[in-house]
Amino acid sequence: MEHHGRHALVTGGGTGIGLAIATALADAGAEVTITGRDAERLEKIAADHPRLHPLAMDVTDAEGVRDGITRAAAARGPVAICVANAGIAEPLSFRKQTPEHWRRTMATNLDGVFLTFQAAMETVGREDWGRMIAISSIAGLRGLKGAIAYTASKHGVIGMIRGLSEEYMGGALTFNAICPGYVDTPIVDRNAAMIAEHQGVSEEEARGYLARANRHKRMLEPDEISATALWLCSDAARSVNGQAIQIAGGHVT
Ligand code: NDP
Repeated sequence: MEHHGRHALVTGGGTGIGLAIATALADAGAEVTITGRDAERLEKIAADHPRLHPLAMDVTDAEGVRDGITRAAAARGPVAICVANAGIAEPLSFRKQTPEHWRRTMATNLDGVFLTFQAAMETVGREDWGRMIAISSIAGLRGLKGAIAYTASKHGVIGMIRGLSEEYMGGALTFNAICPGYVDTPIVDRNAAMIAEHQGVSEEEARGYLARANRHKRMLEPDEISATALWLCSDAARSVNGQAIQIAGGHVT
């Protein structure tokens, strides 16, 4: 119960990687606010876990994020652990990319992290203990063809983490990004379905293609990501700051 009494907030905490992290933090004693746009799904999940608390919040809505996080902090205390995980991946070739697609991706994956971190950090003091974690991607470190907006947004997240770690250097607040390869979650289900449709292959084959893009040629499980998040939240990781941690079966260049 290392995090007993602490308030953690996980955006996109109702599915996939976010849910795995939220559950792991709650199991470690934290009171965890889980956010997303689908209020009903969040409420159903929270009904089964006394330390998960639903909060409907769209990370692209600046006022909604500020208001939601302020209310969550009033109910459960300062957001000492903030996991900016919400994100979308809508692959599209560069030529087909529209300004709307670009903006939607940036608004969710990059602006969403900025708005979430800023609102969460307003609830903690500059010298307080805290862990700010963003879920970037291997696409934050290398180029991913057919996903230029996604790649740019995830590179931006790592830039934000590096800048923040410098700005707050020396205190007890750390900033790190986790960069997964392909993880078995709803995003991958949707991408596999899209690849299957466009390339005329089965979804199983499309999933195999994605799994082989990981360096060890297998799909990751969400608990591999949540274990790293839990470690970053531990006292043992107090000197880990400003890092982009790859979890992709091997080194991604
Ligand atoms: P999911 O699709 O399961 O998770 C995405 C989550 O983000 C959902 O819970 C969704 O909730 C939430 N979300 C999306 N848009 C918004 C929004 N505008 N406002 C609030 N919440 C939003 O996939 P994953 O768990 O895989 O994705 C989690 C993160 O991990 C993403 O940032 C993704 O880019 C990253 N990632 C995933 C990889 C993978 O292979 N799975 C690999 C590398 C990185 P709701 O629909 O209720 O709003």
